[in-house]
Amino acid sequence: MHVYGMLLNGEVRPGRSAVRPLVNPATGETFAQLAAANAEDLDESVTAATRAFRGSGWRTSAPLDRSRVLFRAAEIMRERVEEIAVTETRNIGRPIRETRSNVVLGADDLAFYASATTHLRGATIPMGEGTLDYTLREPLGVCGLIVPWNNPINLFTRKVAPALAAGNAVVVKPATATPATALIIGEILEEAGLPPGQLNIIPGSGGEVGDRLVGHPGIAKVSFTGATPTGKGVMRSVAERVAQVSLELGGKSPALVFADADVTAAAHGCVRSMFTNAGQTCTARSRILVEASIFDEFLAAFVNEVKALRVGDPMDVATEIGPLVSKEQRNSVLGYVERAVIAGAQLATGGGSLEGGEYASGFYVEPTVVVDVDDDMEIVCEEVFGPVVVVDRFDSETEAITRSNNSSFGLAATIWTQNLSRAHRVAAQLEAGTVTVNTAKVSHAYAPFGGYKESGMGRELGVEGLLEYLQVKNVVVAIDS
Ligand code: NAD
Repeated sequence: MHVYGMLLNGEVRPGRSAVRPLVNPATGETFAQLAAANAEDLDESVTAATRAFRGSGWRTSAPLDRSRVLFRAAEIMRERVEEIAVTETRNIGRPIRETRSNVVLGADDLAFYASATTHLRGATIPMGEGTLDYTLREPLGVCGLIVPWNNPINLFTRKVAPALAAGNAVVVKPATATPATALIIGEILEEAGLPPGQLNIIPGSGGEVGDRLVGHPGIAKVSFTGATPTGKGVMRSVAERVAQVSLELGGKSPALVFADADVTAAAHGCVRSMFTNAGQTCTARSRILVEASIFDEFLAAFVNEVKALRVGDPMDVATEIGPLVSKEQRNSVLGYVERAVIAGAQLATGGGSLEGGEYASGFYVEPTVVVDVDDDMEIVCEEVFGPVVVVDRFDSETEAITRSNNSSFGLAATIWTQNLSRAHRVAAQLEAGTVTVNTAKVSHAYAPFGGYKESGMGRELGVEGLLEYLQVKNVVVAIDS
């Protein structure tokens, strides 16, 4: 059985912590093992990264030289799509049809930043006769990148690619249960020509390795993706030494369906925006608000599509809904549904786990639609992070906007309407880092992504994602003597 380890200073080797099983969520069986890292490994990786940052020549190399390495890595990723996708599906249970596109999108992130870094410019600032003033954009140093379990490929590439493109060295901490694909992509980057120590991947527990990374004096910036309560702790810890921090946190994102929407397209789009990765996405539009006059028509179309979703073996290309990542996650999701029903909500479909028979001992939850909810119910306010969506009605545009914004989160929102003026008017008023109109798609390499309010700070992807890994130096030169 394969034993994953860590990538430290260009070498793949076992971590010093316990060997633990990596479980296939579709079967409950161990498919590989991880020799996890401990705090000592983390310290060693920061030392290696610091040495690489200062001495490897990566940060002072011509942008086109860094670009060539990232482009080559993107190519190798594309050549190895199937192997990486199969590994990801085994590790997190996400359907193979989705993990294949995750690999391609990850390669796109590498390619985008390979290109973007060659376009960076400073500025010259007029100061009057006798003075030349210009700015330099410089890398930060060693960046600590923390990744959760729900999308180990893309949440890795969207941090690592801009951090390296900008000239930094990095230490990545994947989630302990899902380290496999980050390690493969790390090896690909080494093969493409990245100097040893420039990228270190240290899978270990949040409490030990994550905590040490965040508090380490050698880390110039922490970029964290994960749950909001963990992110708040990260921010407090980083504040102690005034390191830079960016946070990509949780969400409870609304979809607003207006009476003038194409109901069939809206129902289909709401299924896509909610049930990708069995609802384990930060941007799941998990709260659907529908204008009262089309509520019944929309609900019928939506529930029909949800019932038709193909739940099953994630390795089968026909499967649309796989298992949840772990037994704990399944139990947590079922707990939310149970408490919602006790609080008075109704189930339009789903609500149970799927066990036995073809589902063996996998961690499946039925795609679930909850109705008859109040805005202050737990199921409406909190992130469930599973295949559970609430659908409610509204009477006016103002009410839809007010209720959408009445949330501590602000990650994404989707508007379904055929009225162009309404689309732009509502988009401007929604408190969310990403607003989409008539489409489920929320993020791609070219455009910035991130949260308002407790969904985070800072941006990933796009040129904005590159600037997060650079600092500005102003140089003032007297030229009159
Ligand atoms: P989590 O906060 O439990 O863990 C995230 C990562 O932080 C893991 O690698 C974990 O080991 C590490 N960690 C845990 N405790 C730590 C500590 N004290 N110090 C440093 N690191 C620590 O989150 P999760 O359950 O793995 O992921 C799901 C959450 O991530 C959801 O809330 C989801 O919305 C969010 N998420 C956000 C985005 C985004 O871009 N906004 C994307 C994906 C997931």
